[in-house]
Amino acid sequence: MSVSIALFTQDLRLHDNPVLRAALADADEVVPLFVLDDGVAATGFAVPNRSAFLSVCLADLDAGLRSRGGRLVLRRGPVVAETTRLAAATGAVSVHVAAGVSGFAQRRESALREALGDRLRVHDAVLTALAPGAVTPAGKDHYAVFTPYLRAWRAAQRRHPVAAPHTVRVPDDVPDGPLPQARPDSPGLPEGGESAGRARWKAWQVGEYEEVHDDLAGDGTSRLSPYLHFGCLSAAELVALAERRGGPGAEAFVRQLVWRDFHHQVLAARPAAAHRDYRPHDDHWHRDEAELAAWKAGLTGYPIVDAGMRQLAHEGWMHNRARLLTASFLAKTLYLDWRAGAAHFLSLLVDGDVANNQLNWQWVAGTGTDTRPNRVLNPLTQAKRFDPDGAYVRRWVPELAHVPGAAVHRPWLLAERPDYPEPLVGLDAGRFQQGRGR
Ligand code: FAD
Repeated sequence: MSVSIALFTQDLRLHDNPVLRAALADADEVVPLFVLDDGVAATGFAVPNRSAFLSVCLADLDAGLRSRGGRLVLRRGPVVAETTRLAAATGAVSVHVAAGVSGFAQRRESALREALGDRLRVHDAVLTALAPGAVTPAGKDHYAVFTPYLRAWRAAQRRHPVAAPHTVRVPDDVPDGPLPQARPDSPGLPEGGESAGRARWKAWQVGEYEEVHDDLAGDGTSRLSPYLHFGCLSAAELVALAERRGGPGAEAFVRQLVWRDFHHQVLAARPAAAHRDYRPHDDHWHRDEAELAAWKAGLTGYPIVDAGMRQLAHEGWMHNRARLLTASFLAKTLYLDWRAGAAHFLSLLVDGDVANNQLNWQWVAGTGTDTRPNRVLNPLTQAKRFDPDGAYVRRWVPELAHVPGAAVHRPWLLAERPDYPEPLVGLDAGRFQQGRGR
């Protein structure tokens, strides 16, 4: 009997998984392998919210494989050593893995290539709808501006989604290894796994997306980001499903998935952008631990900012509009280094993703791909536009839950002052303007 290995990474699904399909096509039996990698833990990336979500994803993947006659094989340790050891023990003819974009994923791929030679098969466009590098501007290795990328993306050939396998045969003599368990920090964390992700997609109304996506209280976005981050859902399949449905909502949703592909292709070409300014502007960041702590705790005195930060703590997730305005408040209004804000987001976000988090932070901080790097989002203007009645603030800031209507956004004007902090700073863009290029 020939054996191949499907090494799962950020593609924890059975539907539209080219890695698993190719491994099944290559041999009589397949080892569906996941390695809980010490290297990830050492980077500090395996925080409780994502570890808890991941453990449910793995249990769900195992259940899906079992219902097809297989099971998930779990190992703990360095991913390259564990995979190579299993390949030797089973005499695997091939090892299949998805191409990743981060520096970590790129190093993992080279080390696997060194250890396994041409038995390693790397599959593109598993984590994204279009592979990074599939479209490039003339003479460059990636797109640095979104709109031309969107045009090229729309014109490009994309792969068709592949069906989930009916049966998976796993060699009997390979032990399973116990599945992990972890407790989240956030009590309102969503449920992990492909089954929960597919159920969420079916229950969600993509048709309304364009009208509701910026309404903070309406909470009408897909909330699919954690499932996309762990690959419980395939971006290529979601694009195909949305395109089949058609209409302005589906189009707007696909555009967001293109943003995701865009950031992934930037990171694949510039892995250092995870930490280093993509477009340096000679920033002289202000330093203030007390201000950083107030921002993290949701105690800035600006209710719309504090509401976002408290949603993050409670759910391990935040609405996109809230991510934009809380990040702008940190990087532009307080003018604190975006890396401190990005690290705090990554410590809690269940969808915390190096490409999407770091590059969106850079976009907001004006060090990234925004074509208007000096844009500052005023929290009061944002509140007026995206939480006009104040319902989002009342949901997340209990100290202000009794304040009716838009008055909740300016508690300092209330006749009876609530037990809530004074604004941390004024809203002029002074620090940002003075600090940049001083
Ligand atoms: P929807 O609005 O339903 O969009 C559908 C999908 O498109 C999302 O699930 C996501 O995969 C993708 N998407 C949407 N907006 C963006 C965007 N701006 N950039 C890239 N992809 C996008 N997203 C993450 O997945 N992980 C992160 O760590 C992350 N950090 C962010 C940090 C900041 C400062 C900002 C401004 C944005 C960040 N985003 C991140 C992007 C975006 O906020 C989330 O993807 C989105 O809020 C998730 O909610 P949703 O699934 O309901 O999105």
